[in-house]
Amino acid sequence: MADTEFFGGPLIDKTRLKEVLLDLVQIDSHSRKERKIALHLKGLLEGLGAVVILDDAGRAVGGDVGNLIAHFKGTVPDVEPLFLSAHMDTVPPGEGVVPVVEGDVIRSDGRTVLGGDDKSGIAIILETLRSVTEDAVPRGEIDVVFTICEEVGLLGAKLLDLTQVRARTGLVLDSDSIGFLITKAPAVNRLEIDVLGLEAHAGICPEKGISALEVTAKGIAAMTLGRVDEETTANLGLVSGGTAVNIIPNRVHLTGEVRSQNEDKLERQTHHILQCLNEAAAQYSLEVNGTILKARIDADVRREYEKMDLPEETPIVRQIHEAAQHLGLNINTVAKGGGCDANVFNQRGLAVANLASGMRDIHTVHEWLDLNDLVTAARILQEVVRAGGSPEHGVAR
Ligand SMILES: [Zn+2]
Repeated sequence: MADTEFFGGPLIDKTRLKEVLLDLVQIDSHSRKERKIALHLKGLLEGLGAVVILDDAGRAVGGDVGNLIAHFKGTVPDVEPLFLSAHMDTVPPGEGVVPVVEGDVIRSDGRTVLGGDDKSGIAIILETLRSVTEDAVPRGEIDVVFTICEEVGLLGAKLLDLTQVRARTGLVLDSDSIGFLITKAPAVNRLEIDVLGLEAHAGICPEKGISALEVTAKGIAAMTLGRVDEETTANLGLVSGGTAVNIIPNRVHLTGEVRSQNEDKLERQTHHILQCLNEAAAQYSLEVNGTILKARIDADVRREYEKMDLPEETPIVRQIHEAAQHLGLNINTVAKGGGCDANVFNQRGLAVANLASGMRDIHTVHEWLDLNDLVTAARILQEVVRAGGSPEHGVAR
């Protein structure tokens, strides 16, 4: 069997998986424009027997479609429903993708991303569902959620209509490499900072100005940024300011972020950034007509999303380890510096880990996938579905 492999379980069909994937990557689906792919997936899922709805999240984000939610009935009663999720949107440049197939490796033609982030996850979920449906594998209920707008702030997951979802535990398939289960990811603070100085003509009366740029530079020079410690990172990623070459800039705007697995460290690092800028600002003041004018900092800190932190004894984590063991594979649980929909689902009360889906060099035009990685992930997923429906492994409701 060249393309269809038998592992003691139902069949994972590599050729079929490839064809589904190639169709998916050729459907444009930038964030807020997921309607076409959502309708395509709705058709596929209904063909597998699911009841599919699209929620209202699209309206709230100014997109053309909401999240897709598909219910699959179980064949075994009284087992915990399983949640399976991936995101439909891709990053630019991701329109007009022309996939190039070289054996089992699929890449883009170098003009666009491939969109394996996260169409690899979608294709793995679809092939798993097909295989367990065709082979009538005993299983509990399955809720499939394909989200919109993951790449622009996890918006689909944040707005997902959870009243339509019965499952409270399961997996997101959305990360690079293979053989990993991500159970920890950092919480993120986003910082919008205005450094405010005093405008003055740079040639005529520079002594009447306070350069917001100079204050900013002094503040940043005193900061620890980058990898702060093993759990914490910080970055100032965007800077803008100034009005003209002959005007002392009265305002610089900074956008930055702090990530940490540890809440105290997250707040401490956030405070550190603001404190450095405040201390720099305190060194700049001017007396104008008897009034003391000072540089100052105006900051807005927002929690982008909460951390993900699933203990090893969480049932879904245990199930993955058992599935891998059964297949003779090794799956390592890891912490990851990025966030994904799983962060939001956990924050919203679900227990969801992120299983690697085999994507490589994501968010670049060099992105590629090896079909064998996707087959491996589908085998693991299939094992989780099957174990959920077997009496000795089933988690009672
Ligand atoms: Zn992704």
